[in-house]
Amino acid sequence: MPDLSNAELDQLINDIGLKDPHRGQTIAPCGTQSAYTRHVKRGEPIDDACRRANAEAKRTKGTPTSSRRQPIEHGTLKGYQQHRYRSETACAECLDAHRLYKRNRSRKDAAAHWAQQGGAQ
Ligand SMILES: [Zn+2]
Ligand SMILES: [Zn+2]
Repeated sequence: MPDLSNAELDQLINDIGLKDPHRGQTIAPCGTQSAYTRHVKRGEPIDDACRRANAEAKRTKGTPTSSRRQPIEHGTLKGYQQHRYRSETACAECLDAHRLYKRNRSRKDAAAHWAQQGGAQ
């Protein structure tokens, strides 16, 4: 295999009818993230449509489900459950809320138990 320059290779490819796999590919139109990437790769000026498409693609990335888009209500029992649901460690505020909830519940349980025992008289 002789050492060929790029130009010679191009000529050879043309001669034998080989197609550049990248050439002839449908080019993404402006206003898509692919077009934005293409502009960046080629060092071309980026138009507004492509800029917007890229920003939008980035914004919606990693938020596939509606539950993920819901903000966590920190400092509430619901927030604590939201953390758990996302397999996260609950933040201090939510841990507090949960602790309070558990304490209240056990106090209520104790009170209910006490009432059942006839202690209310
Ligand atoms: Zn563009
Ligand atoms: Zn939280």
